[in-house]
This record gives sequence, structure tokens and C-alpha cells, in this order.
Amino acid sequence: MCTNVFKFAAVLTAFLLGQLLTGWPNATSPAEAGEAPATKRVFRAGAATSNITPPVGLPTVGGWKPIPSTHVHDELHVRLLVLDNGKTRLCIAICDNVGIPRDVLDEAKRRLSGKVGLPIDHILTAATHTHSSVSAYGPSRLRLSEQFNDYQELIIGRIVDAALTAIHNLEPAQIGGGLAAEPTQVFNRRWFMKPGDHLRNPFGGQDKVRMNPPRRSPDLLKPAGPTDPQVPFITVRAVDGRPIALLANYSLHYVGGVERGAISADYFAIFADRIQQLLKADRLDPPFVGIMTNGTSGDINNVNFQASPPKVARYEKMRQVANLVAEDVFKAHAKVKFHDWVPLGAVRRELTLAVRKPTDEQMVWANELLARTDEPTNHLEHRQRVYARRFKRLAEAPEQIDIVLQAMRIGDVGIVGIPFETFAEIGLELKAKSPLPRTFVVSFGNGSYGYLPTPRHFEFGGYETWMGTNNVEPQTAPKIVKALLDMLGELRK
Ligand SMILES: [Zn+2]
Repeated sequence: MCTNVFKFAAVLTAFLLGQLLTGWPNATSPAEAGEAPATKRVFRAGAATSNITPPVGLPTVGGWKPIPSTHVHDELHVRLLVLDNGKTRLCIAICDNVGIPRDVLDEAKRRLSGKVGLPIDHILTAATHTHSSVSAYGPSRLRLSEQFNDYQELIIGRIVDAALTAIHNLEPAQIGGGLAAEPTQVFNRRWFMKPGDHLRNPFGGQDKVRMNPPRRSPDLLKPAGPTDPQVPFITVRAVDGRPIALLANYSLHYVGGVERGAISADYFAIFADRIQQLLKADRLDPPFVGIMTNGTSGDINNVNFQASPPKVARYEKMRQVANLVAEDVFKAHAKVKFHDWVPLGAVRRELTLAVRKPTDEQMVWANELLARTDEPTNHLEHRQRVYARRFKRLAEAPEQIDIVLQAMRIGDVGIVGIPFETFAEIGLELKAKSPLPRTFVVSFGNGSYGYLPTPRHFEFGGYETWMGTNNVEPQTAPKIVKALLDMLGELRK
């Protein structure tokens, strides 16, 4: 198993290096060969943002215990790009939130579609996964909301507002793709460790892999998976050269390092600000929009487990990461070949997945814990109560869920949306096998149902594979990869 994994990693590394050396995209690419010259078609682009900061006081999520928010460090936004080639119109809306459920995003698409006639298949919505935001979930991740709460309504309304503004801003434009890499800020957070207490899970067993192990532990053996250092991007400018928008993708979970109780859009927003500055795109009319999407970061953190923690002030680390990635993108931007027109397309499919269900024995364990009235006295006991509640929710959840998968084609570039916290190796496989010259994954796309490990990781165990952190059948990842490759194939035709 391990030898195969390393062979796979070596092939992927060679593939990634090849991609970096060949640049992206080619001026005369196979994807564009055969397209009729678009002499009469005008390519247009428009971008906009809208504020989705929740009221102070609602609980922030992303950690083990929700804490009421006490202040706003920086505002949360939906950042949105509309592309139109005279034949097809696409809309990509990226929201500063930890994860937005399908029904909220579907409703935003339905309302937008009703107003402007844009097919819902052509709208990709996703969360960035900032951990310092307020939950946009209703009572259950796996059951549709019967009624939207105030914060869900705010998000829905603001996605529509941003889209209407971006459509209003549409103007003749040129588009290009680029590829940067930043290998120094991504670390696989799942480690094989020597046997010991650190591998104990809340269910009374031992895992082989530990998430976020103690730094510089002598028991660290090796990471349980690869990282993806690529930073692919698409960039759009007006015909006079004025930057309109840049949408990038990096496979990093988030950075964090915020003050307790703070609302913040994390490094995603600082990247947007810094790339704007580097492109000399400050205070333009209409305003430039930078966008950072979350790639396949389910098992990737910004923590070097083999080094001592850096001494940094609050918010400093996220600034460092954002600045580095923005500078990489800016360097690659100088080599971008802009096109006057590119083909656009989108395909959407639903996939039915079995929900993981606790066994009778597991429910006896959960019910015993749920019946206890004393407070947990340590971290392990606290986690046990958390998973007991999650087991109960899964037992009450529907047997199956229908998820949305989406693929878009923008010239030579494929963008796919996956509604999970997707492991890096899934993104690498899709990049390697995609029929389009360049492809990247937007995680938390069109929904958010928890972690998405590959089947081999269920043998290793660890947080991301535990029932309640992962909610769907272990064969989900290969099913999703197969469906998305089919969909990209349709778009390639
Ligand atoms: Zn997370």
C-alpha cells in the first residue's frame, strides 16, 4: 500500500513540475482548436462584492466549542465573477464562511435565476472555509431547512445582490489563466505516529494516523498523504488593460491566529487585498475584485509539524501567507497570455450517497454518554460527548443525501465544485486525469457535508475519518472523481 502511495506521489510530483514548466494556458491549445473564430462574439466580464458580515454576538464556529462573536476584525464578503462569451454566461460566487449548506446556496441560485434567467447549472457557489465566521447551517447538515434563519437569508440576498451588480458591470474583456506554486505554506496535517496514547480516539480504540500531532514530537513518523502546492488562477481585464478580477485557488484549509471572539475572513481576504495592490488595481471604477477559493485542503494545514511554532502576533501569520501567495501569483501574472474570447461551459449533476449510520452497539455507547448530567472533566470526555451527539444526529438523518457536483469550462481551464472538505490527493488525481489542460477543485462548492477522505484513509483512522466528522459512505471520493471526470469530458467536446 505505502509503496504504491509513494509511486503515485512521485508521478504526481513529476506531473506538477511539468505543469509549472509548460505554463498555462497555451495560446493555441487543443481545447480551443476547432472552435469557430468568434469574430462576432464579444467576451465580457463583470465582478462585484457584497458584505455578508453577521451581527456580533452570534456564535463563531470552526473550533471544538462555538464562542459568541465579540467584534469584527475584518468584514466578510461574497466575491463574485460573471463571465459571458455571447453564447454562455457563468457566475462564480465565493463566500467568506466556514461552510454553507446546499439548500441556502440553491435558494440563492433559484432567486438569481428567477431575476436574470441565468440557468442554475451555470452558477457555482462556495464557501472559503474561514474558521472565524458564523454558522450558516440550520439544525442539521444532512436535512434540508424548512425555513431559513436571518443569517441564511442575509447570505442568500447578498449573493443575489453581488450577482446583479456584477452583471450590471459586464464590459468587453480579455481573459487568461496562470499557474503559480507556493510549497512552503502547505503541510499535510495527518501523520503516522509511533504507537501510544496520542493515537487514542474518542471511541476507545487506537488510530494509525493523528490529525494535527504535537509539533516536533519524537513519535512522528511520516505524513499520511501529499500536499498540492499549486496556485492556479484566472485573470480578467478590460480591453484597455484595467484589471477587473482575479480568481485563484490554493489547497490550504485556512490560517487562523485570530483573537478570541473575532469575525474574520482569514487569509482569503488578505490575498484579495494584496493581489489588488500588486496589480495596481486599488480604487478602480468599477472596483477590482480579488478572489481566493479553497482547493483540496481537507488534510492540509499551515502548520510545520517538524518545526517549533513561529513567534507571531495575532493576524500576522495569515498576512504572511496571503502576501507570499499573492506575490507568487503576481509573478506568474506577468506571463499570462490574454485571450479576446474563450469557450465557456457548465455541467451540473446530482449524486446520491449513503449516509453513515451508527451500529446498535455505537448507539448504546452514545446514549450512555448523552444520559450523563455531569460536566466533562477533560478533552477526551468532551470529545466523546460531541461524537455521541453527532452519532444521534446521524441515526436520525435520512438514509441518503443528494449532493450537487459541478464542472465549468473557462477556455482551457476546468473548475469543479465538490461540497466537502476534500483531501489533497483527490485534487491531485483530478488534475492529473482531467481531459482539460488545466483543472482545479473548489471545495465547499454548492454545499458542505463534512470531510472527504479517500477510501485508504478510513483504514488509517484519525479525526477526518471518524463518523460524525465524515458523514457519507467511504467510497464517496472515487464516485465523485469518476462523475467529475465524465462531466469534464462532456465539456471538452
Ligand atoms: Zn475546517
